[in-house]
Amino acid sequence: MTDTTWQEDAGRDLVRSFGDRMALFVRGEGSHLFDDAGRRYLDFLAGIAVDSLGHAHPVFVDAVSRQAATLAHVSNYFATPPQLALAARLKRLAGTGPEGRVYFGNSGAEANEAAFKLARLHGGSARPRILTLKGGFHGRTMGTLALTGKPALQADFLPMTPGVEHIDATIEALEAALDDRVAAVLVEPIQGEAGVVELPEGYLTAARRLTEASGSLLIIDEIQTGAGRTGEWFAFQRAGIVPDAITLAKGMGGGFPIGALVTFGHASDLFFPGTHGSTFGGNALATAVAGAVLDEIERADLVQNAAARGEQLRAGITGLGSPLVGGIRGAGLLLGVALTHPVAKAVVAAAQEHGLIVNAANDDTIRLAPPLTIGDAEVNEFLALFDASLATVRDALILDETPDATPDTPAEVPA
Ligand SMILES: *Cc1c(COP(=O)(O)O)cnc(C)c1O
Repeated sequence: MTDTTWQEDAGRDLVRSFGDRMALFVRGEGSHLFDDAGRRYLDFLAGIAVDSLGHAHPVFVDAVSRQAATLAHVSNYFATPPQLALAARLKRLAGTGPEGRVYFGNSGAEANEAAFKLARLHGGSARPRILTLKGGFHGRTMGTLALTGKPALQADFLPMTPGVEHIDATIEALEAALDDRVAAVLVEPIQGEAGVVELPEGYLTAARRLTEASGSLLIIDEIQTGAGRTGEWFAFQRAGIVPDAITLAKGMGGGFPIGALVTFGHASDLFFPGTHGSTFGGNALATAVAGAVLDEIERADLVQNAAARGEQLRAGITGLGSPLVGGIRGAGLLLGVALTHPVAKAVVAAAQEHGLIVNAANDDTIRLAPPLTIGDAEVNEFLALFDASLATVRDALILDETPDATPDTPAEVPA
């Protein structure tokens, strides 16, 4: 990088599947990011619900450096202490009991690929069907893209892996679709990429009852909602059900790439030697860092903090009284601010100008997913910056009399 700008370098050298990069960040500290010009931003996206402890947290830094200096990788021919400790911790936090098992991968998509194979192992040829929800997001690899309920993302990559059906997110649709040819139902407890969309009341309880009756697995995609983000360790726990499996990634590594499939009960017996694998998955470095991140979430009671700060943010955003805010969805620190006009991209741009990073989950939803470590200072800083950003957009808009621009098809954002 000598006589070209970073935008030119990015435009020339990086894959074009992401749009133009919005900033060049060079450093992070706590809940703040710093760009190449030294400008400071409050980070209320946290790398898409990934940086649970914020940036450069001493626990994260210490775990990476210590484990890198001890043992990083040996392959899955061998076990390592951090891997065993993390598996045991995930079983405890998820409440699997002794029969639970953990598969480690390196991303959300890999966790869901493992879940897909788990479903096939359970279903065999007698149960070729897998049900997921319209609008749901489960990844972009060829297997997980079939699970993802967004036809626009699939269109250029047909044909999809067969057997997957996308149904409406209603209990009636699930009841109508389930039979003894369904291997598994895979759902997000809150649809993050769709714009922080909650399931209908009672959905998970009904899904558990109905899948038990049909002999199908119930798999919960907790990749975005897990590791404390929604004010529970895992969002399914609010429904008081026991699933057959959950998938994890994003927040569990606090910025270190890692994913996991955690199985319960009978589902833990499905994989047998030779049926799945990963070279990097669950290596000592990744599992040591994730273990330290989860340890800090427990020690500092960040699950409780996520719940409390989420309430504080909801009240604060409502209290701004902006005509652009129509409502707030989500739980804990995974919030979707519903806008009354399809101006989410303009709000994101205005926020960045004001020194705030947020995300447009679609045309009329702002997604907030700050670090779980935020306190009063960050909440207040956010409210001031968000208020200013909304005001900038409002001033630029000629608001018509009907503040109800119908939300149209959500824009697809890279995830
Ligand atoms: C992000 C996400 C994925 C995919 O994770 P990657 O690490 O990007 O592969 C899958 N499911 C959900 C619910 C997600 O939010």
